[in-house]
Amino acid sequence: MDLASKIRPIYDYPIDGIIFRDITTLLKDKAAFKEAIDKMAEAFYEEVDLIVGVEARGFIIGSAVAYAMGCGFVPVRKPGKLPSEKISSEYKLEYGTDSVEMHRDAIEKGQRVLIVDDLLATGGTAGAVVNLVEELGGEVVGLNFLIELVDLNAREKLKGYNVKSVIKFK
Ligand code: 5GP
Repeated sequence: MDLASKIRPIYDYPIDGIIFRDITTLLKDKAAFKEAIDKMAEAFYEEVDLIVGVEARGFIIGSAVAYAMGCGFVPVRKPGKLPSEKISSEYKLEYGTDSVEMHRDAIEKGQRVLIVDDLLATGGTAGAVVNLVEELGGEVVGLNFLIELVDLNAREKLKGYNVKSVIKFK
């Protein structure tokens, strides 16, 4: 199936000049959703203990991949959302900074972790999540995305890590 055709482009969203890749059109299509998750779940042969998924679309994709791979799931959230003791990691935006948080007891030392999100753009978010996992002593087996915007060169930022994606857009 041509999974790329199931992603709806939204022009000039959230700001002029940006094409937002809307995954809701793929999610509601049962055959496309299943094929996308199956492909992501088959992409890594290595042993994986935990999937770490990023709020909010990474929860949808990440928990489905975790179920398919038989792994646990750890949520990474925007600041102020997690109820227990947490660690945080900052990353740069075009203007200013943002941060993500994870529970301090979410990962045990040496656990093998696969980071999952819906889309890889600049790699800022993914890099911050790598830092959270490694701060807790987790081993990043790889990063697994439904969509990659290849022209933004996130792979440069994530050099040394095994990065995979199912759908690539320019
Ligand atoms: P990055 O940090 O790599 O620049 O941006 C990736 C993050 O922003 C992901 O968590 C992703 O959900 C969100 N994101 C950025 N652009 C898009 C887009 O066009 N479509 C979707 N679905 N998510 C996006």
